[in-house]
Order: sequence, then structure tokens, then C-alpha cells
Amino acid sequence: STLQEWRPFNKTRVYMSDLESALHYSLRVELSGHISISGDDLIALKKYINVLAKYFPGRPSVKSALKTVDSWLTQQETEIKYSDFRDVLDNTVQTSDAVLPEGVQWVGCQGSQAHYRGYPCAVWTLFHVLTVQAREMGSSDPQEVLQAMRAYVSSFFGCRPCATHFEGMAQESMNHVTSLSAAVLWLWSRHNRVNNRLAGDLSEDPHFPKIQWPSPELCPSCHGLKRTGEHSWNQEEVMTFLRNYFSSSRILTDYLQ
Ligand code: FAD
Repeated sequence: STLQEWRPFNKTRVYMSDLESALHYSLRVELSGHISISGDDLIALKKYINVLAKYFPGRPSVKSALKTVDSWLTQQETEIKYSDFRDVLDNTVQTSDAVLPEGVQWVGCQGSQAHYRGYPCAVWTLFHVLTVQAREMGSSDPQEVLQAMRAYVSSFFGCRPCATHFEGMAQESMNHVTSLSAAVLWLWSRHNRVNNRLAGDLSEDPHFPKIQWPSPELCPSCHGLKRTGEHSWNQEEVMTFLRNYFSSSRILTDYLQ
């Protein structure tokens, strides 16, 4: 394997390079394992691309590529070939400046070794950004982003045990989400459940231990104590923190291709 140069980064920020790399990996690697896509998988893909076309806070060229794919998909009825999807994504059909950069360049999602972090980290980051963006933009359906992610993970996410776990959490409580803020908090709290389950696991990067996030250093006001002395989250402060942390205006563009 090739040694990858370490890219210095700020651990308290979101990087567009991770988000674009997640899109590249999802749309050009993960999906390419499906020669043709139909039925529930096609419905899942349509929902996922639609949410990306609406809420991905990216560069104009990337947004434009997502919108092109979205409008092509709405015209497809029962089955698509992955190769046709790919042609539309890569613009061999129309010529314009709509392009999603090729390849991955992890920054905030770099691992201390190549097998750590990367894509799964960037998928979480992308999902959090989308729930926050849907809230800022005032989506009319509070579950729109969550249900699109749920469907994508169930149909396509390469880590199958992850998909099973995520579907279990979705079945348990995703239907109870009735506001855009509740959607942001639902994803945050389920991600913490996953962190809790994986803390100390072999998959954990020793340089990025799984914690209940955000840490007291990152957000002091998010943390409180009950009368019993037990830890408690201050959900209003967590909401304020997440809105700021994942806000489109704070995403750093260093290292973009
Ligand atoms: P990640 O957990 O990937 O988090 C990425 C970044 O998000 C962190 O660095 C931090 O900045 C931020 N963050 C952390 N916690 C939160 C939070 N609560 N809310 C908002 N932001 C936060 N792996 C398994 O082994 N088993 C599983 O069942 C499993 N299920 C998964 C389900 C899904 C939907 C996804 C996307 C991934 C799943 N994974 C699972 C992978 C695992 O959760 C991690 O993504 C992976 O181990 C890499 O961890 P990481 O240290 O980069 O941090």
C-alpha cells in the first residue's frame, strides 16, 4: 500500500473535501456494485439523490451535477443500468461544468492508518450536514432526510452489519420525529449510541477514540448533571452547537481538488 501524506486539519471543523469524497465513493464505488437498480433500491436511490440535490451545501459545479442526476432519475420508471447513471453523473451525455471530482481525499476523516475512518466517518458527517441544512432551508417534511438516509443505508451501504443496526434504530423511533430540529437531534443521539457500542472495538482508530460527542471541551454548555449526579445533555445547547458545527457557512474548503 502507498503511504499517504498526513494532512494537518482542525479537529473541530467540517471539511468539504470529506463530503465530496463521500459523494464520490458512494456514487462511483458503492453504487457501481449494482449493475442494474430497480424496485425498492431504485426508490431508495431516487430519495437519496433528491435530498442531496436539495440540501448538499456544495460548490456550484457539484450541486449542478447532483441536480442533473436528480432530474434524470425522476424520468426513470422501473429500472436503470448503473452505467447510464454513471454517464449522467460524469456528464458524457450533456456537456456542462457540472462535475463531481474523482477520487477521495479524507481530511477531517483521515485515519491514523489507511483502514481506519475514511468513508464511514464521512457518511456520518454528510448525514449530519444534511439534517442541519434541511432545517435551515425549512424542508416541509421533518423525516425527509432521515428516511432518505435510512433507505440508502438499507439498500446500498457496504457495511451490512452497520445497515442492520441502523435499520433497527430507525424502526424503533424514526417515525416519532415530528420536527426538523428533532431530526437533527435524532441523528446525533443515534450516532452517540453507535459510538457507545463501538468504544474499545477493534475498528476504533486509537487516535480517534469513540466518545459521547460533543466532548465537554468542544461544548461545555452541552453537558450538565442531574440532581442524582448523573450526566445529562442540555438538548437546547446541543441543538445550538450542532447548528453551528455542521452549518454550511462554516465548512472548510482546504485541500479541495
Ligand atoms: P465516526 O463515528 O464515523 O464520526 C465521524 C465524526 O463525526 C467524528 O469524528 C466527530 O467529529 C463527529 N461525531 C461523532 N459523534 C457524533 C454525534 N453523536 N453526532 C454528530 N457528530 C458526531 N461500525 C461498526 O463497526 N458497527 C456498526 O454497527 C456501525 N454502524 C454504522 C452505521 C452508520 C449509518 C454509519 C455511517 C457508520 C456505522 N459504523 C459502524 C461505522 C462507525 O460508526 C464509524 O463511522 C467508524 O468506526 C469510523 O469512526 P470515526 O472515529 O471516524 O467516527
